[in-house]
Amino acid sequence: MSEDDETTRSATLVSPLENDDLVANSLRLLPALPSSLLHVSLVCKRWYRLVSSHHFLRQFRAHHRNPPLVGFFSMEWKRIIFTPMLDPPDRIPASRFSLQVLPCSTLLSCPHGRVLIYNQLHKQRLLVWEPVTGELCRVSMPPSFHPTMIVVHAAVVCASTEQGHIHGSCHSDPFQVVMVASDREQFYAFAYSSQAGAWGNNSLSVKLLPYMKEDDCGISRRSTLGNSICFFLAGEKAAAIVEFDWARQTLAFLDPPSEVSQQLNLLDFHDERCQCLVKSSDSGGLILIVVKLFTVHIWERTFNADGVAKWMLWKNTTDLNNLFSLRMVPEDLTAVPLSILGLDEGGNVLVKQKESRAIFLVDLESSKFKKLSGTCPVINDGHPFSTFYTPGKYHTCILQLEQKRIYLISRLLVYRMAFISEKMINKNFEFELFRSFRCRTDY
Ligand SMILES: [Zn+2]
Repeated sequence: MSEDDETTRSATLVSPLENDDLVANSLRLLPALPSSLLHVSLVCKRWYRLVSSHHFLRQFRAHHRNPPLVGFFSMEWKRIIFTPMLDPPDRIPASRFSLQVLPCSTLLSCPHGRVLIYNQLHKQRLLVWEPVTGELCRVSMPPSFHPTMIVVHAAVVCASTEQGHIHGSCHSDPFQVVMVASDREQFYAFAYSSQAGAWGNNSLSVKLLPYMKEDDCGISRRSTLGNSICFFLAGEKAAAIVEFDWARQTLAFLDPPSEVSQQLNLLDFHDERCQCLVKSSDSGGLILIVVKLFTVHIWERTFNADGVAKWMLWKNTTDLNNLFSLRMVPEDLTAVPLSILGLDEGGNVLVKQKESRAIFLVDLESSKFKKLSGTCPVINDGHPFSTFYTPGKYHTCILQLEQKRIYLISRLLVYRMAFISEKMINKNFEFELFRSFRCRTDY
């Protein structure tokens, strides 16, 4: 090999760390936790640019599919409070996601990283809150919404049309507000588009069945699935799943498994000895989870060759008493110890142990579960919130070191912070991130 060839070969050989594609392929395997990309961005300016690029973030989200559950939102008088569920340094302080609202506000749901708040007074308006960016968007109620109606279920859902889009970082994407409301006679479905800035003209309605007009009719935890919102409605010896599919523009009652309807005891439903939750299956169909005290039955709704729907008992039993090692005798119980809170973005069921307020993320299909680090703030509420969140991406924030020295960090200062970060990491300092400003006081 000549000297010139050797020189050329040396020039073309680069360290793997100098190859952006190799570095990006490795970095996208990092956990989808708040501190992951921030730590990486502090290594050097090139890595900061790499992990900030739209292309990398798309690959990162596509690899993880579902954003991590970072905490719960709940109402406390005139404030929406956030309860973090991750350990430091990924723990997002409660003050970072906090919003003061007007009296008589109701927190409806928070899928796809946006929170929907309803206020019955003050012109009956809706508020869409994006906690990560702090953006607020007021939406008037549908023109045909009558003050005598009640909002049964509503959600703000992402309306991105980007190919391969993964929900969880939908901050600038268009959204839809989808709603099911009711008066004493009918259910009504409404859909609002942020792009059109208006509610759709198609008004959907379905007449209530006689048992649905009874005052003691019970409603399960609400679910937001792929293209629909739904809930389980229980009456005495009768039940229905109410589903609003905004993509197909349908509002319908679906019959639950006949065994479930026949064995339904409304008193058990109200005191949570029987709990129901609807979720979507891998094939896009519906799954009904029925929890009777500690026993879980899972039903899947399938279609035969003629397109007729049929419920199949997909999994007969899961014993939550054994699964959580509760060692409780049902006959001795004065109150049901477990409460279903809802679903995370990956379709796992969130179960709260009432006495300890500990929360478990349960994959009921495989009977695997994980205990989350925090506790649920309130007795009977709490909306799970999942997001691909990176501190400092949207706001200036403060990096606090051992409660003594405080450094300001922003998108512009991040390169200068690399040197400080390296020193901190070398000295094995623990650090945490928290927001540098207070949220707005009202809306
Ligand atoms: Zn989205």
